Amino acid sequence: RSWVESGLSREILKAVDRAGYKKPSPIQMAAIPLGLQQRDVIGVAETGSGKTAAFVLPMLTYINRLPHISEENAAEVPYAVVSIVGGWSIEEQGFKISQGCEVLIATPGRLIDCLERRYAVLNQCNYVVLDEADRMIDKNMEKEVVRVLDAMPSSNLKPENEDEELDEKKIYRTTYMFSVTMRTDVERLARRYLRNPVVVTV
Ligand code: AMP
Repeated sequence: RSWVESGLSREILKAVDRAGYKKPSPIQMAAIPLGLQQRDVIGVAETGSGKTAAFVLPMLTYINRLPHISEENAAEVPYAVVSIVGGWSIEEQGFKISQGCEVLIATPGRLIDCLERRYAVLNQCNYVVLDEADRMIDKNMEKEVVRVLDAMPSSNLKPENEDEELDEKKIYRTTYMFSVTMRTDVERLARRYLRNPVVVTV
Protein backbone atom coordinates (compact mmCIF):
# COMPACT_ATOMS: atom_id res chain seq x y z
CA ARG A 1 0.00 0.00 0.00
CA SER A 2 1.20 3.50 -0.74
CA TRP A 3 0.66 7.10 0.33
CA VAL A 4 -1.05 7.89 -2.95
CA GLU A 5 -3.98 5.67 -1.89
CA SER A 6 -4.38 7.52 1.39
CA GLY A 7 -6.42 10.32 -0.13
CA LEU A 8 -4.15 13.07 1.23
CA SER A 9 -3.54 16.12 -0.93
CA ARG A 10 -0.39 16.48 -3.04
CA GLU A 11 0.74 19.29 -0.81
CA ILE A 12 0.57 17.16 2.31
CA LEU A 13 2.11 14.18 0.54
CA LYS A 14 5.10 16.38 -0.30
CA ALA A 15 5.57 17.07 3.39
CA VAL A 16 5.24 13.35 4.15
CA ASP A 17 7.93 12.68 1.57
CA ARG A 18 10.19 15.34 3.07
CA ALA A 19 9.74 13.66 6.45
CA GLY A 20 11.10 10.50 4.87
CA TYR A 21 8.00 8.41 5.51
CA LYS A 22 8.33 5.91 2.64
CA LYS A 23 5.03 4.13 3.21
CA PRO A 24 2.11 4.51 5.59
CA SER A 25 2.11 2.39 8.73
CA PRO A 26 -0.93 0.11 9.32
CA ILE A 27 -2.61 2.60 11.69
CA GLN A 28 -2.06 5.40 9.17
CA MET A 29 -3.44 3.29 6.33
CA ALA A 30 -6.59 2.57 8.31
CA ALA A 31 -7.15 5.85 10.17
CA ILE A 32 -6.24 8.53 7.63
CA PRO A 33 -9.05 7.82 5.11
CA LEU A 34 -11.55 7.77 8.02
CA GLY A 35 -10.28 11.10 9.32
CA LEU A 36 -10.54 12.59 5.84
CA GLN A 37 -14.19 11.48 5.79
CA GLN A 38 -14.66 13.16 9.18
CA ARG A 39 -15.42 9.83 10.83
CA ASP A 40 -14.66 9.50 14.52
CA VAL A 41 -11.92 6.98 15.20
CA ILE A 42 -10.82 4.91 18.16
CA GLY A 43 -7.25 3.88 17.47
CA VAL A 44 -5.93 0.99 19.48
CA ALA A 45 -2.24 1.55 18.99
CA GLU A 46 1.00 2.03 20.85
CA THR A 47 3.63 4.72 20.63
CA GLY A 48 5.86 3.83 17.71
CA SER A 49 2.94 2.78 15.52
CA GLY A 50 2.87 6.12 13.75
CA LYS A 51 -0.37 7.15 15.50
CA THR A 52 0.61 10.81 15.71
CA ALA A 53 0.79 11.25 11.95
CA ALA A 54 -2.42 9.20 11.68
CA PHE A 55 -4.34 12.03 13.31
CA VAL A 56 -2.13 15.00 12.41
CA LEU A 57 -2.30 14.50 8.63
CA PRO A 58 -6.14 14.53 8.43
CA MET A 59 -6.07 17.44 10.89
CA LEU A 60 -3.76 19.41 8.57
CA THR A 61 -6.09 18.59 5.70
CA TYR A 62 -8.97 20.00 7.70
CA ILE A 63 -7.01 23.16 8.63
CA ASN A 64 -5.93 23.70 5.02
CA ARG A 65 -9.57 23.64 3.96
CA LEU A 66 -10.64 26.32 6.41
CA PRO A 67 -11.48 29.46 4.49
CA HIS A 68 -9.64 31.82 6.83
CA ILE A 69 -6.27 30.23 6.27
CA SER A 70 -5.78 32.11 3.02
CA GLU A 71 -2.57 34.15 3.07
CA GLU A 72 -4.19 37.56 3.31
CA ASN A 73 -6.03 36.51 6.45
CA ALA A 74 -3.19 34.61 8.07
CA ALA A 75 -2.60 37.49 10.46
CA GLU A 76 -5.98 36.87 12.11
CA VAL A 77 -4.66 33.85 13.94
CA PRO A 78 -1.40 34.82 15.64
CA TYR A 79 -0.29 31.32 16.51
CA ALA A 80 -0.46 28.16 14.47
CA VAL A 81 0.41 25.72 17.24
CA VAL A 82 0.56 26.38 20.97
CA SER A 83 1.33 23.76 23.55
CA ILE A 84 0.31 24.27 27.15
CA VAL A 85 1.69 21.96 29.79
CA GLY A 86 2.45 22.25 33.46
CA GLY A 87 5.86 23.36 34.61
CA TRP A 88 6.06 26.50 32.51
CA SER A 89 4.51 29.88 33.14
CA ILE A 90 0.73 29.76 32.85
CA GLU A 91 0.59 33.51 32.24
CA GLU A 92 2.86 33.22 29.24
CA GLN A 93 1.02 30.22 27.81
CA GLY A 94 -2.34 31.77 28.65
CA PHE A 95 -1.45 35.02 26.92
CA LYS A 96 -0.60 33.12 23.76
CA ILE A 97 -3.78 31.04 23.62
CA SER A 98 -5.99 33.98 24.54
CA GLN A 99 -5.05 35.43 21.15
CA GLY A 100 -6.19 32.33 19.35
CA CYS A 101 -4.40 29.45 17.69
CA GLU A 102 -5.10 26.78 15.11
CA VAL A 103 -3.80 23.83 17.08
CA LEU A 104 -3.72 23.58 20.83
CA ILE A 105 -1.73 20.79 22.45
CA ALA A 106 -2.50 20.47 26.14
CA THR A 107 -2.44 18.31 29.20
CA PRO A 108 -5.87 18.11 30.89
CA GLY A 109 -4.79 19.80 34.14
CA ARG A 110 -3.15 22.81 32.56
CA LEU A 111 -6.01 23.22 30.12
CA ILE A 112 -8.51 23.35 32.99
CA ASP A 113 -6.39 26.00 34.73
CA CYS A 114 -6.47 28.01 31.51
CA LEU A 115 -10.25 27.56 31.22
CA GLU A 116 -10.75 28.73 34.79
CA ARG A 117 -8.59 31.79 34.21
CA ARG A 118 -10.49 32.40 30.97
CA TYR A 119 -7.35 32.23 28.86
CA ALA A 120 -8.91 29.46 26.83
CA VAL A 121 -12.35 29.27 25.27
CA LEU A 122 -13.07 26.00 23.52
CA ASN A 123 -16.10 27.00 21.52
CA GLN A 124 -14.58 26.39 18.11
CA CYS A 125 -12.93 23.00 18.38
CA ASN A 126 -13.78 20.95 15.35
CA TYR A 127 -11.02 18.42 15.56
CA VAL A 128 -10.38 16.82 18.92
CA VAL A 129 -7.76 14.20 19.72
CA LEU A 130 -7.65 12.34 23.00
CA ASP A 131 -4.23 10.77 22.89
CA GLU A 132 -3.21 8.14 25.44
CA ALA A 133 -6.76 7.88 26.79
CA ASP A 134 -5.92 4.83 28.90
CA ARG A 135 -2.92 6.57 30.47
CA MET A 136 -4.97 9.65 31.29
CA ILE A 137 -7.54 7.43 33.01
CA ASP A 138 -4.79 5.54 34.85
CA LYS A 139 -3.39 8.82 36.10
CA ASN A 140 -6.80 9.69 37.54
CA MET A 141 -7.37 12.39 34.95
CA GLU A 142 -10.71 11.14 33.63
CA LYS A 143 -12.60 13.87 35.47
CA GLU A 144 -10.35 16.53 33.97
CA VAL A 145 -10.73 15.07 30.49
CA VAL A 146 -14.51 15.10 30.90
CA ARG A 147 -14.40 18.70 32.10
CA VAL A 148 -12.41 19.77 29.07
CA LEU A 149 -14.76 17.95 26.69
CA ASP A 150 -17.80 19.40 28.43
CA ALA A 151 -16.34 22.88 27.91
CA MET A 152 -16.83 22.38 24.17
CA PRO A 153 -20.20 23.05 22.59
CA SER A 154 -22.22 20.02 21.53
CA SER A 155 -23.74 21.89 18.59
CA ASN A 156 -21.08 20.62 16.19
CA LEU A 157 -21.34 16.96 17.20
CA LYS A 158 -22.55 14.60 14.53
CA PRO A 159 -26.01 13.12 15.17
CA GLU A 160 -26.08 10.00 17.35
CA ASN A 161 -28.17 8.22 14.77
CA GLU A 162 -25.81 7.17 12.01
CA ASP A 163 -28.60 7.14 9.43
CA GLU A 164 -29.48 10.76 10.00
CA GLU A 165 -28.41 12.91 7.10
CA LEU A 166 -25.52 15.30 7.65
CA ASP A 167 -25.85 18.96 6.78
CA GLU A 168 -23.34 19.53 3.98
CA LYS A 169 -22.82 23.13 4.93
CA LYS A 170 -22.06 22.38 8.52
CA ILE A 171 -18.66 21.60 10.00
CA TYR A 172 -18.95 18.69 12.40
CA ARG A 173 -16.52 17.85 15.12
CA THR A 174 -14.22 14.96 14.36
CA THR A 175 -12.92 13.18 17.44
CA TYR A 176 -10.02 10.78 17.57
CA MET A 177 -9.20 8.74 20.60
CA PHE A 178 -6.09 6.63 21.06
CA SER A 179 -5.47 3.98 23.63
CA VAL A 180 -3.01 1.10 23.89
CA THR A 181 -5.79 -1.26 24.94
CA MET A 182 -9.57 -1.24 24.66
CA ARG A 183 -11.04 -1.33 28.14
CA THR A 184 -14.48 -0.65 29.54
CA ASP A 185 -13.42 2.70 31.01
CA VAL A 186 -11.93 3.77 27.69
CA GLU A 187 -15.08 2.62 25.91
CA ARG A 188 -17.24 4.54 28.35
CA LEU A 189 -15.41 7.76 27.54
CA ALA A 190 -15.68 7.02 23.82
CA ARG A 191 -19.39 6.30 24.01
CA ARG A 192 -19.98 9.64 25.63
CA TYR A 193 -17.89 11.85 23.36
CA LEU A 194 -17.41 10.08 20.05
CA ARG A 195 -20.12 9.61 17.45
CA ASN A 196 -20.35 6.18 15.82
CA PRO A 197 -16.60 5.69 15.95
CA VAL A 198 -14.73 3.19 13.84
CA VAL A 199 -12.37 1.10 15.94
CA VAL A 200 -8.99 0.64 14.29
CA THR A 201 -6.79 -2.00 15.87
CA VAL A 202 -3.22 -2.60 14.75
P1 AMP B 1 4.35 7.70 16.94
O1 AMP B 1 3.85 6.29 17.02
O2 AMP B 1 3.34 8.63 16.44
O3 AMP B 1 4.93 8.12 18.26
O4 AMP B 1 5.55 7.75 15.87
C1 AMP B 1 6.76 7.03 16.06
C2 AMP B 1 7.86 7.50 15.12
O5 AMP B 1 7.65 7.00 13.79
C3 AMP B 1 8.01 8.99 14.97
O6 AMP B 1 9.37 9.31 15.13
C4 AMP B 1 7.56 9.30 13.55
O7 AMP B 1 8.28 10.37 13.02
C5 AMP B 1 7.84 8.01 12.82
N1 AMP B 1 6.89 7.72 11.71
C6 AMP B 1 5.56 7.94 11.71
N2 AMP B 1 5.01 7.50 10.57
C7 AMP B 1 6.01 7.00 9.81
C8 AMP B 1 6.06 6.38 8.52
N3 AMP B 1 4.96 6.20 7.77
N4 AMP B 1 7.27 5.96 8.06
C9 AMP B 1 8.37 6.12 8.83
N5 AMP B 1 8.39 6.69 10.05
C10 AMP B 1 7.23 7.12 10.55
